[in-house]
Amino acid sequence: MNQFDFTHDYHSYANTDEVKVTHFDLALAISFDKQELSGYVNLAIAHQTDQLATQLILDTRDLIIDRIENSKGEALNFILDQADDILGSRLVIDLIADDIWVKIYYKTTPQAEGLQWLTPAQTSGKKSPYLFSQSQPINARSWIPLQDSPKARVTFNAKVMAPQNMTVVMCAESNDEIEYPGVFMFRMPEPIPTHLMAIACGDLAFKAIGERSGVYTEPSMLAACAKEFEDTEQMINIAESLLGPYRWGRYDMIVLPPSFPFGGMENPRLAFMTPTLIAGDKSLVSTVAHELAHSWTGNLVSNATWRDLWLNEGFTTYFTNRIVEAVYGKEMAELEVVLEYGRLLEEFKTMPVEKQTVTANVQTEDPNNAFDRFTYDKASMFVHDLERRLGRVAFDKFLLTYVEHFAFTAITTEDFIAYAQQTLLVEHSDKISETELLEWIHGTGMPEWFVAPTSNSLDKVIAQQNAWLAGTHADALTVDGWSVHHWQYFLTTLPEQLSVPQLLELDNCFSLTASTNAEIAFAWFTVAIRNNAEHVLQAVATYLKAIGRGKFVKPLYKSLLDAGYITLANEIYQEARAGYHPSIVGMIDDIVKS
Ligand SMILES: [Zn+2]
Repeated sequence: MNQFDFTHDYHSYANTDEVKVTHFDLALAISFDKQELSGYVNLAIAHQTDQLATQLILDTRDLIIDRIENSKGEALNFILDQADDILGSRLVIDLIADDIWVKIYYKTTPQAEGLQWLTPAQTSGKKSPYLFSQSQPINARSWIPLQDSPKARVTFNAKVMAPQNMTVVMCAESNDEIEYPGVFMFRMPEPIPTHLMAIACGDLAFKAIGERSGVYTEPSMLAACAKEFEDTEQMINIAESLLGPYRWGRYDMIVLPPSFPFGGMENPRLAFMTPTLIAGDKSLVSTVAHELAHSWTGNLVSNATWRDLWLNEGFTTYFTNRIVEAVYGKEMAELEVVLEYGRLLEEFKTMPVEKQTVTANVQTEDPNNAFDRFTYDKASMFVHDLERRLGRVAFDKFLLTYVEHFAFTAITTEDFIAYAQQTLLVEHSDKISETELLEWIHGTGMPEWFVAPTSNSLDKVIAQQNAWLAGTHADALTVDGWSVHHWQYFLTTLPEQLSVPQLLELDNCFSLTASTNAEIAFAWFTVAIRNNAEHVLQAVATYLKAIGRGKFVKPLYKSLLDAGYITLANEIYQEARAGYHPSIVGMIDDIVKS
């Protein structure tokens, strides 16, 4: 019936059914002058069938392969295919008999989509350059030749040489016994999917937050970051009480320069974070809870293909909310679900009906397209619905057993359904039917029984918004005690059309254009741009040149274009483009040039 084999990862060339890379040793030197990583990776391979594989097929993108040899030092023949736009270049290596080690000498190129090289001017310290990676979904292959598929878990050791006075960190345990100055050693003893491979190098300082958590960042930002994230240890304890022991040793974070394209990235042992979370009042720390939650849902139990990303992001988005509830209370947790649902409703307006499913059918597309609100928020609404139906106690038991059952494996949507058929559909047949479960997973739109999330705490916001829209001057509104979430709700639910004088009145009273909270500024700019309140444009330009987080910059360029500011959008982008991460430049190119 369907043209796709759902067990197959369409975004990797790797022949994992025949031969698997189980471990690798990586040795790299970092050159900021050449914007290059160079060295070797030594892959340990395991043949999967009695008939020994004759070829090892790997994923690469924009790599220069110098030489490939086996453990005896014999050169192995290889062919590096022409690059496919989405997948990169297939690397086919001829194996000799029962080879179990394949050593590849290679270097990266400045185009590597998974690496961003920053000049000192692009950092907060302005003294040292900076390098960081972003491998998800399929960019590990742009800095290591690998079987780059979430199904291909690997352990690794790494040795990285950095320029003087710079620190290297990776998604692994670091070995404090430095061999010689400038060389950093790492070890990841647990098998991880390759999209979690991560490296950063810069002028970094570290501050412990708790016994097993801490934060790395540039020295000038260290105190503020450690303060903002001071509840991390408490979050880990809560998460463990719900999902079982934390299996990765330490949970450290690194707060990157503003060009980091995401809110956070759940690299194991070292979550990557955007500095736009540092609001000074912990209002945006649910992203810390989100990346932490991935330590179970995402890093322990992984999506097998990018179609199944909802298993990773939907459960994590739900679980984030449980951590926020336990640490910051029910009101904040409820507000976040309401805002989440609002974002989802927005995306319903533009997403073709056939794409309104939790599964992301991106088999023939760029897997980045899988990262939409359906994968995150619709899937999270599904998990909330499961909790509501089963009751919290029974649901928590299911979740804990599910994570334990699939720990350190990658699963498809069909694996999840089969597991549900053996567990919750049997044990809770009075609470949820198979038809209902499948409607959530395969259905478009929202199921008819779905009840939209609400929060009493928003009543006061709605009352003030109504009063303002009915003519009460903004001066007379009561906004005492409003949190960032209340403001986000106020701004994102305003009518499409407002007059410029109305917007000026709001801005004069509440200094929205000058907001230092990245979320509030973003929500405000969106309203102001679409209503041609041109006094904000200067601030929008500054924002777009300072921040490279895709969640903010992509929609803002789109808003500018939709509102007719085509020349301005192009001017801003020309200046800002070099500061954006290569992995999102392609997407913004498409928006601005369309
Ligand atoms: Zn996530």
